[in-house]
Amino acid sequence: MKLSQPQSARSINNYRVLNLVRRKDRLSKAELSRLLSLNKVSTGEIVDSLIEQGVIRETGKLASSNGRRATALELVRSSRLVLAVDIGPKFCIIALANLGLELIRFERIPTESHKTPEDFCVSIIKSCMRTIKLAPKDSILGMAITIPAGISSDRKTIERCSFLPWGEIPIVEVMEKALGIHAVLSNSLEALVLAENLDGEAGKCVFYVDWGERIDAALVKNKKVYSLLGAFGHLKVSQTGLCTCGQIGCLEAVASTWALSQSPDASLKDIWDKVPLGQALDAMATAFALASQVCGFDTIVIGGQGSTIPDGPLSKLTELFDKYHHPYASEAVILRSALGEKANIIAAADYALDQFFFHSGFLVGVEEML
Ligand SMILES: [Zn+2]
Repeated sequence: MKLSQPQSARSINNYRVLNLVRRKDRLSKAELSRLLSLNKVSTGEIVDSLIEQGVIRETGKLASSNGRRATALELVRSSRLVLAVDIGPKFCIIALANLGLELIRFERIPTESHKTPEDFCVSIIKSCMRTIKLAPKDSILGMAITIPAGISSDRKTIERCSFLPWGEIPIVEVMEKALGIHAVLSNSLEALVLAENLDGEAGKCVFYVDWGERIDAALVKNKKVYSLLGAFGHLKVSQTGLCTCGQIGCLEAVASTWALSQSPDASLKDIWDKVPLGQALDAMATAFALASQVCGFDTIVIGGQGSTIPDGPLSKLTELFDKYHHPYASEAVILRSALGEKANIIAAADYALDQFFFHSGFLVGVEEML
């Protein structure tokens, strides 16, 4: 894309308006024009065209100090939808979300027990078709598929995944052909981190932990995500516990959902107060302490299913981390993600919205160039 072309500048300003209206309630055209550093006529033209497309609308009058009453703008949340598919070790969640990231429909199908990759894709396609049927015609912008797996650099193929017995699944091509909508693939941890919107202070580093059926982590600094490539969940923190990787005593073998509960349906939110957590919290704190010696970070954010951790276990975890934490390693606070129990599917929906509508990731790049 050439930024000098008026058409490109216009699309960039369109995206900027959409992102501002998304983030800020009761925004007026005048304030928008000030935030964009764009004259009122051009701002007005962009707003009018977005109103015409039905994606934003004017809502009520705002009181202002000079007596003139401005009109507030808001997104028409239901005007466009995205399809989100999160493939987990036990279940695939298929959902329809609107521009406000509200899940309109939600379906869960088992991931396991498919004989071939074709069989596996067909079960997802069928669920997507049931889901799409409920959406108004032409309202679906595209779909995002998230999976804790290695994916190809063109974001179209699942290369290897620990819980699928096949590699090289061209899932984007298959979905696009079957459903007739644009699709994009992302690693689920990356999608979670992006949905989290961990702005943080400039230069600060966040250690983000996806705690659930698997345990994975990434470092996030200046809006860039550095994956630890599955290493965190397999740090040796215990003398016992056979892990899926074949080793004994991995963090995952002690603290993951599968290690804490026998039930195939379990999610961490249902088991915090039902199982003894002592060993799991101890293992997690030990792993945090090990990680903090290797990678300096200021904040630990617990996400995924782990974001539902109640206050009691969270303060126990903090206490243990303080105990194991090396005195020369940088201090770090432990926080919970705000995304809650549906974090993974919300992250997939957010990824789709960003890819096909808001383009905020693209804007970050553009603003660095300006
Ligand atoms: Zn392991």
